[in-house]
Amino acid sequence: MSIGTPLNASATRVLLLGSGELGKEVAIELMRLGAEVIACDRYEGAPAMQVAHRSHVLDMLDGDALERVIKLERPALIVPEIEAIATDRLVRLEGEGWRVIPTAAAAFLTMNREGIRRLAAEELGLATTPYAFASTYDELHLAALHIGLPVVIKPIMSSSGKGQSVARTEADLRRSWDYAQSGGRAGQGRVIIEGFVKFVSEITLLTLRTVNGTQFCDAIGHLQVDGDYIESWQPHALSALQLQRSKAIAGAITERLGGYGIFGVELFLLEDDQVLFSEVSPRPHDTGLVTMATQVLSEFALHARAILGLPVASIERHSCGASAAIKATTACASPVFHGLTKVLSVPGVDVRLFGKPEATAGRRMGVVTATAESVDAARAKAVAGRAALSMQST
Ligand code: AMP
Repeated sequence: MSIGTPLNASATRVLLLGSGELGKEVAIELMRLGAEVIACDRYEGAPAMQVAHRSHVLDMLDGDALERVIKLERPALIVPEIEAIATDRLVRLEGEGWRVIPTAAAAFLTMNREGIRRLAAEELGLATTPYAFASTYDELHLAALHIGLPVVIKPIMSSSGKGQSVARTEADLRRSWDYAQSGGRAGQGRVIIEGFVKFVSEITLLTLRTVNGTQFCDAIGHLQVDGDYIESWQPHALSALQLQRSKAIAGAITERLGGYGIFGVELFLLEDDQVLFSEVSPRPHDTGLVTMATQVLSEFALHARAILGLPVASIERHSCGASAAIKATTACASPVFHGLTKVLSVPGVDVRLFGKPEATAGRRMGVVTATAESVDAARAKAVAGRAALSMQST
């Protein structure tokens, strides 16, 4: 493996499809290793665009627009950083010899909750929540009663809790259907209905595939509100059996998806050491932002090395830590953040502001991370740091 010089004929060009906060950190890590980074998103000034060598604004669900940018930039690697991409086109382009991370099929399958759930449960036989899919309200109604209430209803193409709700009674089902129709990202209509599980906790097992094999980060515990992450911490204590089962699930699903890179495998931990597969992202995971504080190589640094075809000798965690997402409570343009002096006066506390040009209610704008001698102490510091920050419109 060799790396050229950016902005030169020899450059190792990486095309990032998606320029959010996770893409921004990946861009920084790739540039540290000498790659040339081109960032794409649907709007100008997106976080990763602010640190990349150059950028393109396009609708990445438009296959023709996507292919035009790929053929213009001729990247060594195409790196999807979000799900909403014309992944069917990536499959075709991979066939022509372009390299997609981790593979075009993985991006295609994980774009859609149906693809990955059927693969995990029906092909690999992994334990999941009971589920069904529906394209009409009547199908949903039937499926929900078959699974048994309460159920969670999510558009098959959505993330961060968009369009997701819990139906506890039969009367809730219509509202959940309508909400899913308005909240889906693309391809509105079809939904997944899942039995609501009362899990003890939920974790992300970051799984790294590199030229020198598969390795796991220590488990990350997290707290979600309305389907979106608000706090995460590492390590999350697991019993020996939970760890063994978690690694078996993560190993199986990532091996099936293939390629190199980091994968965020989301798991539910139940009573009696039961572990259920929930989802997988073939890219860095939002709950993994905590690894910027806890690991020698963050999930972003690991991803950059892996996708460039470089080895990672070992994954080391140097501290317990936590992250608290900074979410906007109202919409505003060009927000200004106050309170940083107070937040950063606490040892072990750090802040990342993503630089998003506009806030909308619920949008993640930054993150506070903290290290401490225990996970509980780190969580308390991260949450206190977040509380000391405020956001104002200009
Ligand atoms: P997802 O987008 O599928 O990761 O869902 C977001 C969050 O909603 C999860 O991290 C859980 O906290 C919650 N959730 C999703 N599905 C279920 C379920 N079947 N039962 C209970 N909680 C769920």
